[in-house]
This record gives sequence, structure tokens and C-alpha cells, in this order.
Amino acid sequence: MAMPETAENIGAKQDNRLIDLLKAYFGHDRLRPIQDRAVADALAQRDVFVVMPTGGGKSLCYQLPAVCGEGTTVVICPLIALMQNQVELLQANGVQATLLNSTLDPAEAARREQQALDGKYDLIYMAPERLISGAGRRLLSRLNVNRFAIDEAHCISEWGHDFRPEYRQLGTLRAGFGGRFKDTPLIALTATATPRVANDIVKMLHLRDPAIHHGGFERTNLYSEVRPKQQSFQQIVEYLADHPDDEGIIYCQSRARVDRIAQKLSARGVTALPYHAGLENGERKRNQHDFIYGDTRVIVATIAFGMGIDKPDVRFVIHADMPRHLEGYYQETGRAGRDGLEADCILFYSPADRAKIEYFIEQKTDEKEKAHAYEQLDKVATFAHATACRCVPLMGHFGEEHPGDCGHCDNCRKPPVLTDATEDAQKLLSAVARTDQRFGLGYVIDVLRGSKAQRVMDYKHDQLTVHGIGKDKPKPYWSQLADALIRQDKLALTADEFRTAHLTPASRPILKGDENVEITLSRATPTRTAPKPRRSSSAVDDSPLTDADQALFEDLRNLRRTLAADQNVPPYVVFGDLALRAMARNRPTTDTDFLDIPGVGQTKLKRYGPKFMAVISAS
Ligand code: ADP
Ligand code: ZN
Repeated sequence: MAMPETAENIGAKQDNRLIDLLKAYFGHDRLRPIQDRAVADALAQRDVFVVMPTGGGKSLCYQLPAVCGEGTTVVICPLIALMQNQVELLQANGVQATLLNSTLDPAEAARREQQALDGKYDLIYMAPERLISGAGRRLLSRLNVNRFAIDEAHCISEWGHDFRPEYRQLGTLRAGFGGRFKDTPLIALTATATPRVANDIVKMLHLRDPAIHHGGFERTNLYSEVRPKQQSFQQIVEYLADHPDDEGIIYCQSRARVDRIAQKLSARGVTALPYHAGLENGERKRNQHDFIYGDTRVIVATIAFGMGIDKPDVRFVIHADMPRHLEGYYQETGRAGRDGLEADCILFYSPADRAKIEYFIEQKTDEKEKAHAYEQLDKVATFAHATACRCVPLMGHFGEEHPGDCGHCDNCRKPPVLTDATEDAQKLLSAVARTDQRFGLGYVIDVLRGSKAQRVMDYKHDQLTVHGIGKDKPKPYWSQLADALIRQDKLALTADEFRTAHLTPASRPILKGDENVEITLSRATPTRTAPKPRRSSSAVDDSPLTDADQALFEDLRNLRRTLAADQNVPPYVVFGDLALRAMARNRPTTDTDFLDIPGVGQTKLKRYGPKFMAVISAS
């Protein structure tokens, strides 16, 4: 009896050929475990659903099957920039790939379509609206499609943050087209999917008994840190000075703040450009282009800057303001370290930011929406205030239970110190009580610190016993303490625009001295991330460079920049940092040794090997 075609035996049978193709085209020696299973299932003609964090290597799950069989894989991708990036990377690796989108002139589109019908391409990238357009349907009715790959599949769900109505149409792949694709396998891929979104994807795409491969959400190569937002601009400047070779993104909540930070950084000699929806189209595109091509070090942006940024060597993502939800925070920080090398994610948190967002939420008229927004914001606050591993609340948001001790967050690497703040809490709470629970925190703190402002005098609050008893501590300290008390329900604010502070049932035992208050002064002095050798993460193997290697690395970088400029592609399309670092360390001078560098396949060896080896030999 013939053996049933299961993922296991197909995987085993094809192993050697697959690995050869993997090395020849993509320059990798082995598949990562999830890739291995996903590719095997795809080759067994199953529907596949892959959830893997950014940088996990999702693209290979459909690109490798695409180069090893007959026919063409049609890839659906939500953004032109994403398609372009993927196609450039594939072409640089010698894979036959192209894209069809609305920016092509009709003659060029027709040419590509003809070549597609002639079977020239292993992969064709398309926007979803193209797929269901008349032209798309005509092409698909004649094309030998071996598989559909749906990238950024979460765009199909209204419950996700990137909902694309066009993605809804993808349901017709299975149901429509006169049944032509009834049995054509689908592979759906995404980096973010709460359980609800994941269900939606399976349902909307009509996936049939899909093989689900879930790589979890944790990004072990991202170091996450939360700092109190005090002199944050100065902290950013210091960070940039400590990491002079690194490129990254600074996210802000408002356009005005984006412009201001970008200007101030430029004035300090840091190449920084703004990006937000208020900029003229051409300028916005130019700024994005400059960042991706490595011509500017920093992009300061609102959350409008995001999807479509596949730049693999983003080394830091700084949130200069508090984000509104963890999903956004995860997405935005997720743009760092796609290449698997370590990257920093720094969030500046202040209770004032939180109050600002709450104020916006209060403007909402839909009660359900309001409650949802508060819930989301609370989760960010919980994450920011966490005194233990930050992966627990972050992964928890995606329904994943994290055991803690991740080893790549500030709380794991530099555990916070708990301080007894009972006496100060008593002072603050009494000040709230003595001012009759009728004022906002700012005012209460002013009274505590002995302000002689007109308003204080008018209310005769300078005559209270609490007036001035908090002079010894700065304002931010009192804000932080108040915020901690609010989080512990020992103090509360009204939800109207006045944000009046008032006591809670839990305030009394503190005032009476029956209960102590312990807080984390979110690391009193600003902590700085020291420049560090890139640690190896689970994703890549990379050890620090010696000084001599570093010098060669710089030379190789320059060569890469020149070659990339000649071909009008971003430098990382030529080689990633990981490959250059391996070259600097191992100094290959023969074809065989050069092929050992991660990311070097046959095409890149031929195209670039001689030039890079010449620089290595000369060093
Ligand atoms: P994702 O789409 O999940 O964010 P990518 O497909 O862009 O991830 O891959 C991220 C990085 O990992 C790329 O630099 C890619 O070259 C690298 N990579 C992918 N698969 C492998 C592998 N099997 N071995 C080594 N590197 C890999
Ligand atoms: Zn941790």
C-alpha cells in the first residue's frame, strides 16, 4: 500500500533537495523549526496558517515552496512598498519574481502578464484589489497557480488594527472564480493575531483544516525598557550619542511634536527627518525613502509611519510619548531588529501623558467605544508600571501566557528597587483631603510644595498644615507617587475634564497608619543603555567584532552602500548586517568560504562575491 502523503514523510523525502534550494537561492543552511513544518505542510498541499513574530522568517514559508515546484505562487500583499521590497530581495537572490500593481503602465503590465502566462515567474505579488479586478481575473483564469499566499493576513479582520476592506474580497478565492481554485492551497501569514483575529482569518479565507503554526509573539532580540519621561529629549540625545552607528525610529503622539523633535535633533547634528500625515506627499515619501536607504539616521514619526517598513536593520524604536494601546506598541516596536540582531525599544512614560489620552477618550460619545479605549489604555499603564518581567503583560495581551524572566527587558536585567513611601503617601492623601477633594493633582502638588500662586492664596490654602510639607521632593516625584497610588486604587481621579483627585476606601488605612505603601520609583535616575556588543538571540548567531574586524566591517559597509546606490536599491538588499559582520569576522577569500556566509546564495556569490572578497583580501 502506498504511504499516505503526510507532512512528515514529504518533508523527509524532500529534505535534501529543499536544503539545496534553500542554500542556492536564499543562502541559508537550514530552516527554522516552524519554517520546516510550515514548508512541509505547504508541499503536502495543505492550507497553512503561520503566526510568527516579525523577523521570524515568514516569507520563506511560501517562497521556498514557490521555487521548488511547478507553477506560480500568487502572493497578496497590502502595500506597494512591501511588494517592492520583497521582489527586490527575491530578484537579488536570483528568484524569478515580479509584481503587478496599479502604478505600472499598461504596456509594462501586459508584458509581465504575458511572461507570467509563459510560466516565467515562481512568484507574482499582487494587491488584493488587482486580484479581483477584471485584469486580475483574466490573468488568473489562465495562470497555473500552485498556491496563494496571503501576507499580513490580519488585514482581513475588523478586529485587528490594520483592517483593509479589500482583504475581505479574498474570501472569493475559494468560493468564487468558478471553482477554479477550490483545491488550490492557501497559506496565510501574520505577525499579530489575537485569538479573535486568528479565528476571523481562518473563517474569512475559508481555510480548510489548516495546519496552524504558531511561533508565539515574543521577540527575544528586542530589549524593552520603560523610562520615566523626565528630560526625555536629553535622554534621546544621549542614547543617540552612545549608539552612533545605529538607525531607528522615534514615535510621537502628535505631528507638532514630531516636527519639534526632528528639528531639535537636526540642530544637534543628528540626521533626522519627520514623517506624518500632515506633510506634503512628496516630502513624506522622500523622507521614508531616505530612511530606508540609510541616508538619514533617524525618522521621527507619528503612527502613520509603519506598515510597509521592511527595513531589517532598524536598531532602536523609541516611544517619546505614551502609546494608546499595546497592540500599536507591539507593532511599532516590532519594526526593530527584523534581521534578528539585537535592538532597543525604549518607552518614555509619564502620568501626564496618560491623563492627556484619558481626556481624549472622554470626548468619545459612544459608551462602548469609551470603555474599550480605557481598557486598552489601562493595559499600557500596567505594562509601563510592571515591576516584574514586561513580557508577561505584553504577551498576555495576545492571549499568550509568558512565564516571566524573559531576560530581555529592563525589569529582568536591572530589577527595580521597591521603596517605602508610606509617609509621603500620607502627606499627599492629606493634602487631597484638606483641599476638600475638589482640585486636580497639579494643584494639590503645588500646595504640598508650598506654592504661593495667586490661586493658592485665594483659597487660603497657604494656611493649611499640609502647605509646603512636600517641599523636599520635586514635582515629578509627587506625580509618580500619585500615579502609583492611583494604580493601587488608593487614590482616584474623576473622569471629567477637571480630573479632580479624591480619596477611596483604601486611602483611610494609609492615613491612619495601618497600612504601608511601597512603590517603585521607576528607576530614580535616568538609566542609560550602554553600548553593547550585539548579543546572539535565539534567531541568529552573532558574536562581537574585534577592532580590526570592525574596521573591515566599515569598509564592507561602504562597498555595500556604493553597490546599492548603483543599483538603486536599499543597502540591505545587497547584504544584511549579519552577512557583513560574518564576512568581517571570517574573512572568506574563496567561493566555497564565501558561500558559508549566512545569506549568500549562488546569485549573490556571482554578483557580489569578487568585489567583497577583493576588499577582504586587501585588508
Ligand atoms: P518576517 O516576514 O517573519 O518578519 P522575514 O521573512 O523578513 O521575517 O525574515 C527575517 C530575517 O530572517 C531575514 O533577514 C531573513 O533573511 C532571515 N531568515 C529567514 N529564514 C532564515 C533561515 N532559515 N536561516 C537564517 N536566516 C533566515
Ligand atoms: Zn523580562
